[in-house]
Amino acid sequence: MGSDLARDLGDVSLEDRLRLMVENASDIVYQTRGLDIAWISPSVTTVLGWTPEELIGGPAAALVSPNQNREWIDINRAKLAAGEDVYQELLLQAKDGSERWFAGTAHPYAADGVTGFIVGMHDITVKWQARNSLALVEELFRVTTHSAGEGIALVDSDGVIVEGNEALGRFVGRSEADLVGVGWKSLVHPEDAAEQLDMCAALLSGRESSHRTRVRFVHSSGSVLFGDLSVAVVRSGDGTVHRLVLQIVDITDQTRAQDQLTDLAMIDPLTALMTRSAVLGRIDEALTAGGGRRDRLGVLLVDLDNLKVVNESLGRDAGDEVLATIARRLSGAIDDTSFAGRISGKLFIVVVPSAGDIDGLVRSAERLNDVIGAEILVQGRRVLITTSVGAVMSRTGSIGMGLLRDADVALSEAKRRGGGRVQVFDEGFATAAVRRLVLEEELRDAIAHREFIVHYQPVVALGDHGRVGFEALVRWMHPVTGLRGPDAFLEVAEDSRQIRSIGAQVLRQVCIDLVEMPDAEVTMGVNVSAVELGDPTWLPGVLRVFEETGVDPRRLVFEITETAVMSSRRSLRSELQQLRDCGAGIHLDDFGTGYSSISVLRDLPVSGMKLDRSFVTMMSDRSGSGAALAEGLVGLAKALGIDGVAEGIETPDQADRLRDMGWTHGQGYHFGRPAPLSAWLTPQ
Ligand code: C2E
Ligand code: CA
Ligand code: CA
Repeated sequence: MGSDLARDLGDVSLEDRLRLMVENASDIVYQTRGLDIAWISPSVTTVLGWTPEELIGGPAAALVSPNQNREWIDINRAKLAAGEDVYQELLLQAKDGSERWFAGTAHPYAADGVTGFIVGMHDITVKWQARNSLALVEELFRVTTHSAGEGIALVDSDGVIVEGNEALGRFVGRSEADLVGVGWKSLVHPEDAAEQLDMCAALLSGRESSHRTRVRFVHSSGSVLFGDLSVAVVRSGDGTVHRLVLQIVDITDQTRAQDQLTDLAMIDPLTALMTRSAVLGRIDEALTAGGGRRDRLGVLLVDLDNLKVVNESLGRDAGDEVLATIARRLSGAIDDTSFAGRISGKLFIVVVPSAGDIDGLVRSAERLNDVIGAEILVQGRRVLITTSVGAVMSRTGSIGMGLLRDADVALSEAKRRGGGRVQVFDEGFATAAVRRLVLEEELRDAIAHREFIVHYQPVVALGDHGRVGFEALVRWMHPVTGLRGPDAFLEVAEDSRQIRSIGAQVLRQVCIDLVEMPDAEVTMGVNVSAVELGDPTWLPGVLRVFEETGVDPRRLVFEITETAVMSSRRSLRSELQQLRDCGAGIHLDDFGTGYSSISVLRDLPVSGMKLDRSFVTMMSDRSGSGAALAEGLVGLAKALGIDGVAEGIETPDQADRLRDMGWTHGQGYHFGRPAPLSAWLTPQ
């Protein structure tokens, strides 16, 4: 039969063909006689470096790494001796000492009284490493997460759960075994699922490396749960194997409690009147009822002129008693259609939907004044309270917030005229000049009552989007109209030089926040205005805050604009140098918008520049001038060896382009909007 085949295949014998195949294969083949090697394929030499002379006649075990589990080899030998084929994965050693994984079958033979086996194996090192690191990850996961308190799941690149721990099972009402093989999306509330899938895609594509959000989950019983979800990617060395690690903290109770708090926040605990936000909601409701065709609605903002005297002479408890009494009197004096609230401190509001016209509203105000003005007995003493009232009627298109603001303007005017009176809002009050005056007075109060708070916006490294710091941005918690941004008050604060006090409060707050998070490796940018820079008491004030708060100045960066620098005094250089000597950074803000940027960089001890947002916005212009400038300016920063922060990044594309140009740091809505510090700290 052999000769038939040889004929069919032409002149080359089957044996020759087989030899050719073995000699040219990278798979290794060897044959033993007993346990000693009798023959090796040429690939044993090309792949592992051993020559026939070195191996033939010696034990087959010489090929196997000393690190290979010997027990396993013995088990396999026993099987071979029993005449079975054995599939094995072995760690072999090359002549140069390196080791590689091989897999294949050993086949026992017996002929002419000689026994042994033939082994054919191929190299699986790469596959083995990948599979093993994955197995390692999964094993590690099982061991470390089983008893963890938060829900944890390991998910493959198709979104299917590979492992889930007990806590997760408990959270969603399934057994641990029931979690495996389930698409994790099916645990998520349908309305949140799409967003979560997008997020997974971004993580798997490498666009992002981690992610954190509040997500709604669905319990097997159908109830909705809230989870704080963090997701991270696990990638093998060659980048091919993906796992997502999901961590879910149950925040259902917390979220519900917060919702209840929002309810609570509708009622002022001291006076049992509605709070500011509740009143605002009711006004807007009343205004929209009847499609806006309804009667005009009147708003009275009532301030107690002399409560301060009561607080100071009889104590705060007495003051609180007066507030509660006045609240009761207000509620008793208004008709069923009207409602009253406490806006803040000693400021009340009465909304009169059926006032008719402004004269009717003023009459209501006077009646209320009489009621409030009647003597009050506190701690055995007679107290007389006088009030100032700002009054305004709604017009077509009015909204609650606008009415509140106008009533506030009228109230300020009433106080400016000596108090104890009702002032009707007049369009004339809306003129720029009057508004400025009013604002200036309000700012004085705001500084005294410390109404300024700090929001923080993250600054990231553009390479990996890791957070390196924050910029502190001032906000005004206005008692009547709510949160206001710098646009609403900075100009007036600078003109009136009140910015000096505001800036000092901001700096102190930032330093306190830094001291309270000693481990956070972040720097905080603080804005400094021209007025502050021009003030000889500024630097000593800053140094005092350093000392009093104990902050490490190296964690601060002062942001100054070139316009501020230009309008300032000559000693600025040495003052800024003193700050640098303490370790603080100086960044030139809104870089590129002035006329003298480059000379400022040259003359002052600046440690970085912040590319103005306008360049980043302009980058997508067809002319390409924005991009060209952004690229030129980063070259300048590099040449001077200073940091470059690009501001106003709103899209991933802008972030990538700026990074490619060489900008090392970035800031903008894409990475996070300004928010209270608590929003950036992980919950305990
Ligand atoms: P700035 O120093 O240039 O601060 C950046 C401003 O850009 C912030 O406005 C920030 O909210 C906004 N912003 C950040 N990312 C983006 C984005 O991606 N797109 C857009 N459209 N805007 C973005 P904000 O908070 O209204 O502050 C305005 C300015 O007020 C600041 O400009 C700064 O000059 C001044 N300022 C803020 N806080 C203080 C302070 O404490 N002291 C002083 N003196 N000035 C301050
Ligand atoms: Ca700034
Ligand atoms: Ca800026």
